[in-house]
Amino acid sequence: MSTRGIQAIRGMNDILPDQIYLWEFFEEVVRDLMAAYGYRNIRMPIVEQTDLFVRSIGAVTDIVEKEMYSFLDHLNGDSLTLRPEGTASCVRAALEHNLLYAGPQRLYYSGPMFRHERPQKGRYRQFHQVGAEALGYAGPDIDAELIVMCAELWKKLGISDVRLEIGTLGSSASRALHRSRLIRYLESHLGKLDDDASRRLHSNPLRILDSKNPEMRDIIDGAPRLLDDLDEDSLAHFDELQQILRDQGLDFEVNPRLVRGLDYYNRTVFEWTTGKLGAQGTVCAGGRYDGLVEQISGKGASAVAACGFAMGVERVLALMVESCGTIPRSVPDAYVIHQGEAADGFAWKIVRHLRDSGLKAILHCGNGGFKAQMRKADASGARFAVIIGDDEVHAGEISIKPLREAAGQMRVGLAEAADLIKRT
Ligand code: ATP
Ligand code: MG
Repeated sequence: MSTRGIQAIRGMNDILPDQIYLWEFFEEVVRDLMAAYGYRNIRMPIVEQTDLFVRSIGAVTDIVEKEMYSFLDHLNGDSLTLRPEGTASCVRAALEHNLLYAGPQRLYYSGPMFRHERPQKGRYRQFHQVGAEALGYAGPDIDAELIVMCAELWKKLGISDVRLEIGTLGSSASRALHRSRLIRYLESHLGKLDDDASRRLHSNPLRILDSKNPEMRDIIDGAPRLLDDLDEDSLAHFDELQQILRDQGLDFEVNPRLVRGLDYYNRTVFEWTTGKLGAQGTVCAGGRYDGLVEQISGKGASAVAACGFAMGVERVLALMVESCGTIPRSVPDAYVIHQGEAADGFAWKIVRHLRDSGLKAILHCGNGGFKAQMRKADASGARFAVIIGDDEVHAGEISIKPLREAAGQMRVGLAEAADLIKRT
């Protein structure tokens, strides 16, 4: 029998209190930004019917072929899956609750996603995404809005080392034309295709261009360009998107090779990448998915245009740390130490008063002498120690000692204490 304690599953991380300030800061900025743009939060379950993802992401994709955590519900035999992404669930929820009858919807979600990948820096098996979905908008204005919103987020987070790449996949008709040209090209290079590519040659040739195998680089570089097969409406859509982005002062690069790893995209696709995180350089990715709502509803419902993005929170936070250097931490304002029966009661009153005044105050628990309590106060990172002994109780006052600067102890009345701590 192993004597080792039980450990977390590989690739599934604990987020510890020392890291949490960064997460909470990020979450707060996201919440305010989404609200400022009129995107409303939606929270979906973490587990869905497997079929939802197979239908939407596509059967011949990395996610569905190799990365999903799927399992049988032993009670009823259903095939269930831990969500690998949020778009499919978000669309399912909007349909199930008839949100679209009320008109188009700007929505956003955040939370853990699960993919069975090889864990490495920036690639985990449980990771977090923030995603925004604009359902019922044909764009390209909304496509631009989503991109502009990302740019503003980077700015608010102090991130500057990101590049924007945009591309277009055209309509399904122009993709079909491109597909046949691509297959002809790849067939003429059969010997040089790797296993994945050979297998996908007829089922999903476009995906071959998304290969990360360096040996496939040359073939991919020489392949026919989707941009040359595009329909006029999609080209106009793409031109207008670029115009809005330029008007908004955004730098971008058109990447004709941008192929997203999910099947449901059409027209606009985009990625935000950085050179600062090694191989896992894509921090945010998205695009337009006009056919997905119809595909998920499965009722022959009328088409609902839509566009969205998802960002990898771990990668964004890593980039924040790269850009800002240190992780700030949240410290208490006061640590209240006390000794003696009367002082104990007075201490409860003091912490309540400090907290009611909007301060973060820790009450020392667990007894101990003044010296030992003072050491705890120091270790807590608090800015002030608030000291209460018999003297203080009798005088109806408290002693305050700054812990982060070489200043002396002060004795003040209860009413002044909170003000004094706030001012400093
Ligand atoms: P990659 O090419 O890195 O595998 P992807 O195309 O599979 O990414 P999407 O499905 O577009 O990723 O997900 C959006 C974002 O979520 C990615 O750009 C990335 O920042 C993040 N992400 C995806 N998979 C992981 C993972 N396993 N661990 C951490 N973050 C991830
Ligand atoms: Mg992937």
